[in-house]
Amino acid sequence: MKKLLPTSTAGSLPKPSWLAQPETLWSPWKLQGSELSDGKHDALRVSLHEQQLAGVDIVSDGEQTRQHFVTTFIEHLTGVDFENRKTVKIRDRYDASVPCVVGPLSRTKPVFVDDAKFLRAQTKQPIKWALPGPMTMIDTLYDDHYHSREKLAWEFAKILNQEAKELEAAGVDIIQFDEPAFNVFFDDVNDWGIACLERAIEGLQCETAVHICYGYGIKANTDWKQTLGNEWRQYEEIFPKLQKSNIDIISLECHNSRVPIELLELIRGKKVMVGAIDVARNEIETPEEVAATLREALKYVDADKLYPCTNCGMAPLPRDIANDKLKALSAGTELVRKELLAN
Ligand code: ZN
Repeated sequence: MKKLLPTSTAGSLPKPSWLAQPETLWSPWKLQGSELSDGKHDALRVSLHEQQLAGVDIVSDGEQTRQHFVTTFIEHLTGVDFENRKTVKIRDRYDASVPCVVGPLSRTKPVFVDDAKFLRAQTKQPIKWALPGPMTMIDTLYDDHYHSREKLAWEFAKILNQEAKELEAAGVDIIQFDEPAFNVFFDDVNDWGIACLERAIEGLQCETAVHICYGYGIKANTDWKQTLGNEWRQYEEIFPKLQKSNIDIISLECHNSRVPIELLELIRGKKVMVGAIDVARNEIETPEEVAATLREALKYVDADKLYPCTNCGMAPLPRDIANDKLKALSAGTELVRKELLAN
């Protein structure tokens, strides 16, 4: 029987201190060459083991093999110049030094496929793999070639589709596209963002997810959140069209955010990954706190469509805290499972 309320993480988990600087976002690697490739796979093994110990049902690589969720992907493409970087405002919020698109984009080799095969060989559990979404990719680049956000996003969608098809062939069960930019550029999302996302999943048989959030707990993001008022209604702008899209699962930030939970009504019928663990503070959620978030979500999401998960960005947490938070997710989910089975 399929397990009720399968748990997962939104994305990154802490890396071992011999691979990257602890508690640091986007840390440079501490190893090089073949030591680095071996080190990444060893880290992936450790991360998988910790997820299993914590009772996570849908496991991932914990993003152990990437430094940054967008740039590590782009590093594998031709048409991008990493030497001559430009400073641009990303997510309409903060300046970042980003690579330049200087010619036609193409993916000459797979990006994460070998890593996904490696993870697949370690476990029979369902596995989820995260890729950057097309709109978020173009928002993390300077475009000196296509001169059109929409056209560039479409090119990325085609490239992501090539990668996604190979990840599916490698045995990935759920392919997730991370689209924090969906929470910022509503008109573009509705005009072409969701169309690009659907191009990225074209022809896939495995399950597909889109993760939409308010960004990692960096200062630019926490400052922005202060300006959003008491109710964060960004999801309201894009949910109606997402509800009609071909994406199977929508992954959201819920716990300790100010997202009114009733907005889930707008995506009724979709599977929903509900972020029930806060990553912006070190305090461990109690099982009862996790259960309370899930019970609220269950008012709008059918039990067989609810996937409890963490909010994204656990990478900079101390390791023991991240592990305890995963355990809290499992314990809180188990409370709700028992209630559902008793009724
Ligand atoms: Zn996120």
